[in-house]
Amino acid sequence: MSDPSPRIRRSDPEAIAEAAAILKAGGLVAFPTETVYGLGADARDDAAVAGIFAAKGRPRFNPLIAHFGEWEAAEEDVVFDARAERLAAACWPGPLTLVLPRRPDCRISLLCSAGLETQAVRVPDQAVARALLRSVGRPLAAPSANRSGRISPTAAQAVESELGKAVDLILDDGPCRIGLESTVLDLSGERPRLLRPGGLPLERLIDLLGEVPEARAANAPLASPGLLESHYAPQTPLRLDAAAATAEEGLLAFGPDVPAGAAMTLNLSPSGDLTEAAANLFAYLRRLDAAGLPAIAAMPVPEQGLGHAIRDRLRRAAAPRPAPAPHSTP
Ligand code: AMP
Ligand code: MG
Repeated sequence: MSDPSPRIRRSDPEAIAEAAAILKAGGLVAFPTETVYGLGADARDDAAVAGIFAAKGRPRFNPLIAHFGEWEAAEEDVVFDARAERLAAACWPGPLTLVLPRRPDCRISLLCSAGLETQAVRVPDQAVARALLRSVGRPLAAPSANRSGRISPTAAQAVESELGKAVDLILDDGPCRIGLESTVLDLSGERPRLLRPGGLPLERLIDLLGEVPEARAANAPLASPGLLESHYAPQTPLRLDAAAATAEEGLLAFGPDVPAGAAMTLNLSPSGDLTEAAANLFAYLRRLDAAGLPAIAAMPVPEQGLGHAIRDRLRRAAAPRPAPAPHSTP
């Protein structure tokens, strides 16, 4: 079968070399990570980073994560204290993003920090992402490769349907292993603050920190402007903690006991496995959204392990939608 789009390429070494050349020339490349597909640009190139905001329709106040091939490279741009070093040693490469103070000589575009004095950094654990980072030889700014506020893509085809011509090349390496965005931890202050639960289970993070991180203050939107209430949102209205769905609704099920009678049912994990559920979440939300039903009913997911992040995403997907931002670019 031929590729569905000329922009999607299997991520063989030749395609990775082409992607690196596009990025070095200031272009945009979507690439797989273990969490979700990212929309990458050279993090040191202001114009390229501005291109990410335009392609996603992302508000300029929402900062971007810089991805590195190696931890040592990140130390050139941000300050690691002892806590950050301990976490990086334990979790990188992996699904943990650290928000750290920028060094005075930080070379990452200020647009990535969106006016804050911190920069979010991560080393992804995915062979294609790491080969690409090595080949470019510079950090890549890479938010999730979806239109702002929409469902993150966990497959190359989902990137294509989100961004179409706005992206120069999409490297395809199949579905993402984890399927949820990284956990975002702010270590720029005295106490660690959890800005976003994600692919690193909360219990493991608490274990590594030796304390429970502070929750993001509900009335402090600038601490992490991306964490808007409505996010990861399908177009179809979604309701939470559903015991059953009506004959018109789509059911996003979880576990072995699934009520019958929905117009369409997709089960995140029939055995009740949260890792499997995380990997299926965004793809199933997309499929239910595409079915054109009046509503999606989501069954409850337990609040443990990756369940924290799954519940967070479902809650945001169900939140009332804001009016479109007046100056977000189409
Ligand atoms: P994504 O846009 O999918 O890559 O998600 C990245 C998340 O990290 C967003 O919610 C951002 O708001 C958040 N983030 C990135 N950089 C920072 C930063 N310097 N301070 C606080 N939050 C950040
Ligand atoms: Mg995102």
